Amino acid sequence: MQEAVSKYEEKERLLITRAYRKLLQAIKSKMDNTDHQNIRKAYTMAVDAHSKQRRKSGEPYILHPIAVAQICAEEIGLGPTAIVCALLHDVVEDTDVMLEEIENTFGQRIAKIVDGLTKLDSAYNEGSPQAENFRKVLSTLVEDVRVVLIKMADRLHNMRTLGAMPRHKQLKIAAETSYIYSPLAHRLGLYSIKTEFQDLCMKITSPEDYHEIARKLQETKRERNAYIEEFIRPLTEKLNEIGVPYRITGRPKSIYSIYNKIKVKKVPFEQIYDLFAVRITIDVPPKKEKSTCWQFYSEITDVFKPIPERLKDWITTPKSNGYESLHTTIIGPQGRYVEVQIRTERMDEIAERGFAAHWKYKGISDEPDVYDDWLDNIREMLDNPTNDAVEFLNDFKTNLFNEEVYIYTPSGDLKILPKGATALDFAFSIHTAIGYQCKAIKVNNKLVPMGYELQNGDQVLIITDKNQKPNENWLKMVVTGKARSKIRSTMKEERRKQGEFAQETLRRKLKNLKVNFEDNVDMLVKHFGYNSRVDLYYAFAIDELSFQELKKFKVEHHKLVEDKSLQVKEETEVPVTPEPTSTKTRRKDGKTKPRLLIGGEPADLYEYQLASCCNPVLGDDIFAYLTATVGLKIHRTTCPNATNLMAHYGYRIMKAEWVSSTNMSFIANLLITGIDDGPGVIERLSNNISTKLGLNIRSFYIDGTEGYFEGKVSLLIANKNQLNIAIKALQSLPGISTVTRIEE
Ligand code: MN
Repeated sequence: MQEAVSKYEEKERLLITRAYRKLLQAIKSKMDNTDHQNIRKAYTMAVDAHSKQRRKSGEPYILHPIAVAQICAEEIGLGPTAIVCALLHDVVEDTDVMLEEIENTFGQRIAKIVDGLTKLDSAYNEGSPQAENFRKVLSTLVEDVRVVLIKMADRLHNMRTLGAMPRHKQLKIAAETSYIYSPLAHRLGLYSIKTEFQDLCMKITSPEDYHEIARKLQETKRERNAYIEEFIRPLTEKLNEIGVPYRITGRPKSIYSIYNKIKVKKVPFEQIYDLFAVRITIDVPPKKEKSTCWQFYSEITDVFKPIPERLKDWITTPKSNGYESLHTTIIGPQGRYVEVQIRTERMDEIAERGFAAHWKYKGISDEPDVYDDWLDNIREMLDNPTNDAVEFLNDFKTNLFNEEVYIYTPSGDLKILPKGATALDFAFSIHTAIGYQCKAIKVNNKLVPMGYELQNGDQVLIITDKNQKPNENWLKMVVTGKARSKIRSTMKEERRKQGEFAQETLRRKLKNLKVNFEDNVDMLVKHFGYNSRVDLYYAFAIDELSFQELKKFKVEHHKLVEDKSLQVKEETEVPVTPEPTSTKTRRKDGKTKPRLLIGGEPADLYEYQLASCCNPVLGDDIFAYLTATVGLKIHRTTCPNATNLMAHYGYRIMKAEWVSSTNMSFIANLLITGIDDGPGVIERLSNNISTKLGLNIRSFYIDGTEGYFEGKVSLLIANKNQLNIAIKALQSLPGISTVTRIEE
């Protein structure tokens, strides 16, 4: 018996030392003596500490930290410090080893990283809300990115070995992974890890689909390889002539991405043709990278026809997560589309390993680090925490995981902002002070509203004014976390200031009632449904809340107590206080409205609608008229009512301008006359409008007598230009005499 156990132990010991040796071989970075010693020490410490533990699968626990260290070295390309930390990552959490011991042995830096990893772990174990966990992940991220990179490796190994876990735990871990780790991996440029996360999550959440696609990929492998061969054959000779070493590979796309395509395109696996991408990886010195990649592009597109819209040049302008590559789609043999990725070995390493590899190569360029802005952004968000963890998470998701737009300053400097960012976001991204004082914004030399959504390549000029101050409406015109948190904090300050007076009034009133201020104010906050004292004072200050409300309370033992009997009576006497309008409900509208500048200011500040007497269309000359009841009405300057309005109510007229980015439909009414040559008229007209011109018809009346007809058609169109084109096209139809735009 004894002998059997020792044999078993012997076998395990061998397994462990073998894993460790494999780890040492995987470390490619330069190491000095201290590094070697530290790794050895960390290994011994971890083996000792975990000696009595086993994983769910039954294997010795120590194999897990070794595997995590292996991933750090091999798949993320991290150096000796990270490897030491990876080996120790579960030691403080799960064993008797104290953090001090690690600090004494390995120094402060390593202790700090291990501490970060430990805190991350406990955040999950406590089962605190996910948004809160997320904030923790990010706090450790800005302290030392390695913490999160090691955590990625830890998560990856756990995901790879999830089989031994009970199903409900698998689902929980998969959910966390796709929620936090997978997007974070993407953002850190760890593409292969992200892809593996997605596949592993899918394997857990949709096992049947996963295995079916995996099986079909396997079945079609031969045919796919033959196709790739056929694709490569005519290229080889030409590419060889360039005289630069390169590799060419065809690799299937991930199961998850194929699954997504099947879902989005609603076609079966058999009809997905771009199941793989061809990658050409070129070995050239940094100086020649760009020109060589384009040289390869040129040769490839000489052989196969490219689809110009699919060309993506992330070499000239890398993605903000550091990704560089030249992508094109060509029409390959048998007319099939093939995605071709052209990049250098350096770019490839960055694409596969992300952050760490990027830093390794950082020396070769003087460009500012692509991650600096991003990390600054995270820091900023963490420095300005909102009370609401969910809101914080939303900010984060829109800001740091999204695709981006490339924007230029007037001097030609490039700024990268998340897709959906507005002109006002841009102002804040340059400098907080510029954001605060932003008065007007010009995009490509045209004045735009602050909420203008930035488009790739826009050149943006911010006009500032020292007297400008953010207001609540600005929150509706920004999407970036930086701008939001800055505006929010000034609003808070503004609210606080405005509420000061109300606070004093409240203090006096409570004193008159002989109740203690401190003992009662929080009850009032809660009673009226506010989040904080500041909000309560502010509500009093802006008359959202009336001091009359205090009459609904009676005083018992120096405390305010709700008086139910009084309440009913009071309500009939006291004028009804307006419903507090939260920013959330206000935000709802405006979406379907056209975007305008009114008096040079974004129209969002006003209530406004298009006048139905003249139905203005984007591009028409317009003005705004302040009505007594419904806010502003936007009229065409040619509106029959316009002269009257302008003559009598000149003081109510405001300048109004369109914002070209408006993407909504406008109503335009046309009067069409012609010769009625039979029953085909309506059909011919409507066919032309909807099929040829691609416009939507709202209504269509036609009336004819004795060979002549008059029709009124109401269309939905995007702008004046489109309307003019439509009018011309309809006019040229046989049998049509006149096409005129009418007011209503
Ligand atoms: Mn672990």
